[in-house]
Amino acid sequence: MLMHLFKWHIIKIENRRMMKSIRSVYKIGNGPSSSHTVGPYNAAIVFLGRYPEADHFEVTLYGSLAFTGAGHGTEKSIRAIIKDCDVFFDQKQTDLPHPNTMLFKAFKDGKLIGENRILSIGGGSIVIEGEESSDEKEIYPQKNLTEIIEQCRKEDISLLDFIYRYEGKELKDYLSKIWIAMKDTVERGLSSEGILPGGLNITRKAKTLYETRCHNEDSDTTMNRKIAAYAYAVSEENASEDIVVTAPTCGAAGVIPAIFYYMEKDRGFKEEEIIDALAVAALIGNVIRTNASISGAECGCQAEIGSACSMGAAGLAHLYGLSLDEIEYAAEVAMEHNLGLTCDPVNGLVQIPCIERNAVAAMRSISSVILARLLYQTRKISFDEVIATMYQTGKDMSEKYRETSHGGLAQIYRSK
Ligand code: SF4
Repeated sequence: MLMHLFKWHIIKIENRRMMKSIRSVYKIGNGPSSSHTVGPYNAAIVFLGRYPEADHFEVTLYGSLAFTGAGHGTEKSIRAIIKDCDVFFDQKQTDLPHPNTMLFKAFKDGKLIGENRILSIGGGSIVIEGEESSDEKEIYPQKNLTEIIEQCRKEDISLLDFIYRYEGKELKDYLSKIWIAMKDTVERGLSSEGILPGGLNITRKAKTLYETRCHNEDSDTTMNRKIAAYAYAVSEENASEDIVVTAPTCGAAGVIPAIFYYMEKDRGFKEEEIIDALAVAALIGNVIRTNASISGAECGCQAEIGSACSMGAAGLAHLYGLSLDEIEYAAEVAMEHNLGLTCDPVNGLVQIPCIERNAVAAMRSISSVILARLLYQTRKISFDEVIATMYQTGKDMSEKYRETSHGGLAQIYRSK
């Protein structure tokens, strides 16, 4: 194809340095891809709100949205808000402000009355080109995890105290709703059977994984099997374009619910403890999206699954009462061993490798915490350094591996 011509001009988002609320790491929305469904859905709401008098709309999708938007359900998400709308897929335009760019146009009596380029920057968040994002305020003065931990040490407070100081106690109510939505998705997925939509003829596996014990299964295997079943449950709901919670994206939405559903249901942790763990996990996701990216189209799957794995490790380390150093190390280990992970979804669907990858990442979060407990005093690399490496690796990655379905497993499958 034209891949050698594709040189995304990755924008430097000027407000990348200050941290916004952790709330928007978790957004409730329809799968299968936060940047391809939730972001365009939000963009359609904003644009329609600007031109309520328009009688016709056009939306042109560029970059990753043009290549995988059909499989990811982008058109459907936009039409859910703007009924009278022509949607075009432009796979040729290369000079783009972001790999997920949309051009919205509004018409009245055949005349163009307004247009905006809107960027879907990951996790369902959007930026209107030339405008400051208005829906998310910057509330943390710290720029990265090093500064956050320094602040916690200075005041002898936990990460949780730190979060609630800036977010207020009402954050608990928000996270409580998020946790209910996450659990609903796990339970819906566990009770569902049949074939996933999209044409790959993939059978749902969550229920079987949950109900089928391995021969001579020991307690460790039971834990891994159940966590995998929970991750499959959410990811299969996501692939079915059902309601999920971004964590930090739809594609990676299975990791966090899998870990914490297991901890509540099978290990007896209380709901309030899980909600606090979700807060710490979200703080890590927030640091990543502020200093790097959580978008597969921008930095590959390391930015989605790697971020979810890192968030899960940090939240779990907090749940087990580990120290600041141990929490940081757990998050760092989890991201470090996802570095370079490509995004190559088969047929542009969020199914292969995405569903299985959520299960593996959830198990890897747990391994990262175990390593952190034993080895944190020997570490040489900080979490912030690994995040900077992930971002640089993503920028160096061929566009084939950034949610275009032109390389890797997608290419192999197509050629069969
Ligand atoms: S491969 Fe990873 S980043 Fe790409 S669509 Fe699947 S989960 Fe998302």
